[in-house]
Amino acid sequence: MTVALHGLGVSRGIAVGRAVIFARDDLKVAEYRLADQEIAQELQRYQSALQHVQNHLMTLRQRMAANAPADFVSFIETHLLMLDDPVFVHGPLQTIRDMGCNAEWALKLQRDALIDVFESMDDSYLRARRDDVDYVVTQILRALLNVPARISEAAPGSLDGTVIVAEDLSPADIVVMHEHGIAAIVAESGGSTSHTAILARNLGIPAVFGLRNVQRFLTPNETLIVDGRHGLVVVAPDRSLLAFYEQRRVDERAHSFARSALCDRPSETRDGTKIALMANVDFLDDVRLSKTVGAMGIGLFRTELLFLGRNQIPDEEEQYTVYRQVLASMEGAPVTVRTLDIGADKSMPWYDGTIAGAVNPALSLRGIRWCLREPEIFRAQLRALLRASIAGHLRIMIPMLTCSDEIEQTLELIAEAKAQLQGQNIPFDDNIAIGGMIEIPAAAVIAEVFARKLDFLSIGTNDLIQYTLAADRTDDAVSNLYDPLHPAVLRLIKMTLDAGQTAGIPVSMCGEMAGDVRYTRLLLGLGLREFSMHPALLLEIKETVSTNSLTDLRCQVEPMVISGNRLEIARFVAGTAPGFEHIL
Ligand code: PEP
Ligand code: MG
Repeated sequence: MTVALHGLGVSRGIAVGRAVIFARDDLKVAEYRLADQEIAQELQRYQSALQHVQNHLMTLRQRMAANAPADFVSFIETHLLMLDDPVFVHGPLQTIRDMGCNAEWALKLQRDALIDVFESMDDSYLRARRDDVDYVVTQILRALLNVPARISEAAPGSLDGTVIVAEDLSPADIVVMHEHGIAAIVAESGGSTSHTAILARNLGIPAVFGLRNVQRFLTPNETLIVDGRHGLVVVAPDRSLLAFYEQRRVDERAHSFARSALCDRPSETRDGTKIALMANVDFLDDVRLSKTVGAMGIGLFRTELLFLGRNQIPDEEEQYTVYRQVLASMEGAPVTVRTLDIGADKSMPWYDGTIAGAVNPALSLRGIRWCLREPEIFRAQLRALLRASIAGHLRIMIPMLTCSDEIEQTLELIAEAKAQLQGQNIPFDDNIAIGGMIEIPAAAVIAEVFARKLDFLSIGTNDLIQYTLAADRTDDAVSNLYDPLHPAVLRLIKMTLDAGQTAGIPVSMCGEMAGDVRYTRLLLGLGLREFSMHPALLLEIKETVSTNSLTDLRCQVEPMVISGNRLEIARFVAGTAPGFEHIL
C-alpha cells in the first residue's frame, strides 16, 4: 500500500531507491501478518538468515589467531551453540506458521519471552546471559533486514542507489555513505542545520529528517521516493507517482541548466552594487564546482572534515598538502580556511578527551576553545596553513569565538608558528588576514571589540541561531523554535554588520542562511554584501541579487528589523519567494 510520510526536508532533490535500514543495535522491526501463500517463503527467509549468521561466526572462529584470548573464543562458541538451539531454530518458525507473523516479529516475540525467563532467574550468571540472547537476536535481525552492522561494513556496491533509513546519523556516517553511492537519506531525528544535514546538502544527497518511527512503516527493500525539498517520503509508490516524480526530476535538471548562463555574469544588484558571492567548501570536489559557477573565492573551508570519519589525526604534512592544493587551485582568489571546529555534533573517533564526557557538548569545548586546550594539534594546523600560504591567497578564520582573550591567544600562537618557520628558513606569506566567526550572541554584542583586533568577520548563522534561541540545531523536536527570522537573530546580524562598517573591515555570512534564497533580499536589505554558500546554490542567489535594487530593499528592511515584528518580516520573506508561504 502506498503511504506518504511528512518530515523535515533538509536537503533538496528527488531520489527513488530501495530502502536499506541502517539501525543501531536496538533494531526496530515492522510487524505485519502474512497471507497464507507467503508463509513458506517467510520460513525459508528465516532459515537463510540463521544460516547466514552461523556462516559468519564460523568464519570469524576460523580467522581467529591461535593466541586469541580464551574469552573471545568462548564468546563465539556460545553464540554458535545458541544458533543451534531449538529456541532459535524452531520457536520463531512455529510462530510464523501458527500466527502468520513476519519473521522479524516472530523472532522478537521469541526474544521477549526468553528475556522474561532470564530476568526471573536468581542466578546472576544466568541472568547475564540475556546479553548473549540480545546479541544473537540482533545478528539474526540484521541478516533478515539485510542491514550491515556498520555502514562501513557494507559490501562494495551493495548500497548503490539505495535510500538509507536510520534513527540518527553522524556527519562521519554521511561521508561513508556518500562513498557507497547512496541515493537519499531518511532519518528519524536531526535538525536542518545539523552538520549531518549540511553535509547531505553539500554532497547533493536528498534528505528528510525528523520522521519519527519511520521504520515501522517500512519493510527492507521497499521502493521509496524521497522529495527533499518538501520533506516527503512516499513508501511503495504506484506507477503514476513514479512517473510524476521522474518528470519533476527532469524539470529540476532543466532549470539548473538554464541558470548556468549566469556563471560568467557579474554579481551585482539592479542598481549596480557589487555583491561578493563566495563558496563554502567541505571537499576538494567543491573547489572545482566553486570555480565552475564563478565564485569570487572560498568564504569557508571547513577543515574539520579532513579529520572526520578516520581513526587517526592527519599530521602537519598531510594537512599542508591539502591546503596547498586548495590554495593553488583557486589561482589567487581568496581562500578562507577555518581552523579546526570540532566538538558538539562533530566528534572524532581519534580523540577520547573531554568532548566525549561533556554534559552538554554544544556548550563545552568546541572550535577555538578546543584548539586552545590542545595547542599541539592547533600548532600543527597553523604551521601547515602558514607553509601552504605561499601557494595562493590565504585567509585564516577562527570559529566559535566568545571573548577577546581567545583572539589574543590565537594571534600569539600564529606569531610563534611564524617565528619557528622563519628560524627554519621556511617561506610563508607574512600578510595573511586573520578573521573571526560570529556564532555566539556574546560575540555579536561585542563584535565592535573583535572588529578592532581582526581583519574580517564572518557570521555563522547556524550556530548564532541555536545559541541565541537556545534551540539545538540538531534536534528536530525544537526545529519550530530554530527560527532564522526571529527579530533577536536579525538584530545580532545587523549589529555585526554595523560593527564591521565602523571598523572598516569586511563582514561576510557563511551560515546556511546565506545560501537560502528565501533570505537573500532580507540580508541585502540588512546591509550584507558578502555571502558564502555551497557552490551548488550560488547561481540561484546570484539570480535574486541581480533582479533586486538595494535602495528599495534597504527602505523596506531596516524599519522592519527596528520594529521587530516577526509577522511583518515573515510576510516580506514569503512575498520574496513564492512557494515558501508556510514560513508565516
Ligand atoms: C555556522 O555556524 O553558521 C557555520 C558556518 O559553522 P558550522 O555550520 O560549521 O558550525
Ligand atoms: Mg558554526
